[in-house]
Formats: sequence, structure tokens, C-alpha cells
Amino acid sequence: MNRSPAEPDEREFPAVELPPEIIEIARRLEEAGYETWAVGGALRDQLLGEDRGDVDLATAAPPEAVRRLFRHTVPVGIEHGTVGVLDPSRRLHEVTTFRRDVRTDGRHAVVEFGASLEEDLARRDFTINAIAYHPTRQQWADPFRGFADLREGVVRAVGNPARRFQEDYLRVLRAIRFAARFDFEIEPVTWAAAVTAAPGLRGLSAERVRDEWFKSLRTARALHRLVRLWHEVGAAAIWLPELRPTWPGGEVPREERDPVVLTALACASPAGVLHRLRCSGDELARAEALQRGPAQPASADEVAVRRWLAAVGEAAADHLLLVRYRGEEPDWLPVVQRVRERGDPVSRAGLAITGHDLMASGIPAGPEMGRVLDLLLDAVLADPSLNTRERLLELTRSLQ
Ligand code: ATP
Ligand code: MG
Repeated sequence: MNRSPAEPDEREFPAVELPPEIIEIARRLEEAGYETWAVGGALRDQLLGEDRGDVDLATAAPPEAVRRLFRHTVPVGIEHGTVGVLDPSRRLHEVTTFRRDVRTDGRHAVVEFGASLEEDLARRDFTINAIAYHPTRQQWADPFRGFADLREGVVRAVGNPARRFQEDYLRVLRAIRFAARFDFEIEPVTWAAAVTAAPGLRGLSAERVRDEWFKSLRTARALHRLVRLWHEVGAAAIWLPELRPTWPGGEVPREERDPVVLTALACASPAGVLHRLRCSGDELARAEALQRGPAQPASADEVAVRRWLAAVGEAAADHLLLVRYRGEEPDWLPVVQRVRERGDPVSRAGLAITGHDLMASGIPAGPEMGRVLDLLLDAVLADPSLNTRERLLELTRSLQ
């Protein structure tokens, strides 16, 4: 039999094992007469031998039919045709009706149902993300040759790259994210189109850019390549002008990555960056604390280390992470560990005396009380052996 070039050679495709709940949902839809395929990133990840995320299903069934066919559903993204189906153990699986784009403006798409699998795959961004697998027939669909690109390590737009980036500029950042995550090359025509499209990134919402930046920081195999690609494509100039020209740290194992601290390392003025990216109040506060410092103790002696821990408070953990990301091992680091292991008090809360004790000895609540607590803490930072109730009361009396 002659094969058209787009038709996969099944022998080259490994069998994949899908979760039984996914197969069950697909079977139910198929039995009701609706073609249903597994799609998206989970297939790509599984073919690459990476941990697979949630398996998404794409179906010919319209959303109302999906809701009718399953007892427990959640309209997670009903306007885009996505229905969440809960399996018996209440895990949610996304089932999305085959769609085609009828209108795009670089930020959103208006979609239409009643499309075919091939049309649904054609609206996906990159060939490696446009592979489908039939859960019950165990058959592959790969009209854009994503499997070959996976094997060769290439990020390639589906169809005309320039048009695809104009439909949704976020794809510029997604191309970089996948290239950095899998250490893939971006196919030259796709890359040239991404560079040309980059000015369109201005029109994206800060939230989408932030999610992409954070995901990229979490998943990039090599952070220095991620930073280089953001600069080269022109995304840094628009969204992260504070991004340093090269990654200033060492490589960081993925399990240890915190996007706020990584951003603080990669960018000057991280608080401004996170503000622009509309991060949460908590994330902003963390970036501000990192920026404020002091980034390290004045010296490696225990008193200086305790004073530093007291000054930075809860931000100590982020400062220490920053040091680790830089790949540094300063001489004060083991001192921090020692001080912490011993449990030396480094905050008012660690003092062996309370506000009640102080009031009982005649200190009025209010600013005066705060001043006394600070003086006591200062004394205890210099000499932790002072941290007993008796000695602190004695000290309080001598202050009065
Ligand atoms: P991961 O979840 O690991 O980041 P993913 O490929 O699953 O990767 P999602 O954002 O979860 O990415 O999207 C699922 C699928 O939807 C993608 O594989 C792709 O086929 C399609 N897709 C997502 N975002 C876009 C987009 N902006 N343009 C075109 N297709 C997209
Ligand atoms: Mg996904």
C-alpha cells in the first residue's frame, strides 16, 4: 500500500499506555458515535520519555453531548468547548470539542465547533503538540509530522509560521519555552517568523506573559539558553528590559526552582519586573525583600549572622536560595546553619519574655514597648545566653 507522506509509519511509533480512566471516557464517547482522540502535551511528553502531564481528549461530540453522556461534569471552559469529566475517583479529565478558529486577533481566538480532528490539530501551535492518539484503536494521527520533529528535536510551527504567530503572539514565547525545556532547535523559518512577530508581544496580557515566563523558568533544561532566546527573539526588550544579558547563575535542578527568586537573580529591579507582570501581593513582597536586602551578613561571625537573620526575617530563605542559584558557597553559609540548628533567637518572637512580662514590670504598651523589645533582641543577638526570662527582666530594669 502506498502511504502519503503525512501518514505515519506505525512501526516507528511506540505504543503508549494511557490511564484506564481516559480510555474509559474515550470508549463511552466513541460508543455514542463521537470520534475521540488523546491530544496535546501529554503525548509529546510520553514520546520523549518524560513524565506525562494530564492527558487531554479531543472529541467530535459537542459540549452538550459530553455533559449528557457523563454523570459528573464541570464546565471548565465551556466557551472554548472544554468540559471536565470526573472519573469515579473524582479526578477531572478535560474533554474538548474539535474546533477551528474563525477569528483571531493575536490574543484570543473565536472558535467554532463541528471541525474534524485534522482541523483541530491544524489550529495547534507546533507540530510536536499536534499529534493525536486514538485510545481504543491504538492508532496515531500525525498529519504535520510532529513525530519526526520530536525525534529530531525541532520546534516547528504548524502551517505558515508568520500567520500562526500573528494569530496568537504568545506562541513566540511558547516556542522558546519548548525549545529550552527539551533542548530543541527552533526550525529556521519558524524562528525568523518569531523574531518578526515579536513586537506583537506588546499586546499580550501581563498574566499570560508571566505564566509563560514562570513556566519557562521552571522547566528549561538550561536557564542560560532560555535567557539568550528571550533576548534574541526580542521578547526581553519588550517585557523584561531588566533581564541581564546572560544567565548570572549556575544550573539549577528543576525540583529546586522558584520562579520569583530566579527572576530576582536574572533581572535587575525584580520588584518592578514582577509588578509589571502582575504577580500576586505575596510574590511582590518577596521580590521587594530580596531587592531590599541586606543580601548577606556583614561578616561570617555568629553575631553578624544572627543580626542578618533578624534583619531579613522570613526573607532569609529566599536570600539563601539566591546564593544557591548563584552557585556560591560563602563562608557565612555554614554559620547560618549552625545558628539555626542551635535555635538561637533571631526575632522578637524568640525572646524568652513577652509583652505581658514587660507590662508587669512597668513598660507601657506602644512604641516604648517596641523600643525595649528591640533593645532586648539586640542584646540577645549579640549574646544568646542572655535569653532567659530573669536576665531579660534584669536588662529591662537597667534600661528604665
Ligand atoms: P505543558 O502543559 O507541558 O506546558 P502543553 O503542550 O500541554 O504543555 P498546554 O498549554 O497545556 O500545553 O496546551 C495543550 C495543547 O493545546 C498544546 O499541546 C497545543 O496543542 C495546544 N495549545 C495550547 N496553547 C496554544 C496556543 N497558544 N496556540 C495553539 N495551540 C495551543
Ligand atoms: Mg498541558
